Amino acid sequence: MFDTVKKNLEARGFSVRTFATAAEAAAYLNETIDGRTVGFGGSVTLKDMGLYELLGSHNEVHWHWVNGQEERKAAMGTQVYLSSANGLAETGEIINIDGSGNRVASTLYGHEKVYLVIGRNKLAPTYDEALWRARNIASPKNAQRLGKKTPCAIKGDRCYDCKSPDRICRGLVVLWGPMMGMETEVILVDEDLGM
Ligand code: SF4
Repeated sequence: MFDTVKKNLEARGFSVRTFATAAEAAAYLNETIDGRTVGFGGSVTLKDMGLYELLGSHNEVHWHWVNGQEERKAAMGTQVYLSSANGLAETGEIINIDGSGNRVASTLYGHEKVYLVIGRNKLAPTYDEALWRARNIASPKNAQRLGKKTPCAIKGDRCYDCKSPDRICRGLVVLWGPMMGMETEVILVDEDLGM
């Protein structure tokens, strides 16, 4: 199912690997990333794959979901950074929406290499549909997960473009390609992963 998006991502300069299962993708990352400093972005995908525990046995790992808010800064200075995405267009654009900014900032600058681990449920045919997915599916689910007082968290049905103090959607980043000087590898998994 990834033939077209893989071709389009590679044409934009991303490295791409595809895996049938999350377990196979986790095994690949565990074998590839060794003896490095590794930062984690907030991601249900990474959490469910157990990557912090796997990589932590032979890398120096930093994740604010495990060790508190100070880890955000430590994660920004690592050699390697891992995140997922909120939407991926079959045409190759990678979309992320963020509240604190650390996650999207790290997909733009500051690391030697970034891995983006993306399940099949994040894929949409076009850029507009991938953006719609990020705003109307991923963000409301994340607001619900975080217990935010936003209209989307109550119903979980769509984005209301709220002006709530609890709004988690503060910035939108679209990667048209890997940033200069920072290799970005997209790990596509043929399973539903994350929000
Ligand atoms: S902008 Fe507000 S309503 Fe829309 S998804 Fe984000 S938090 Fe929810």
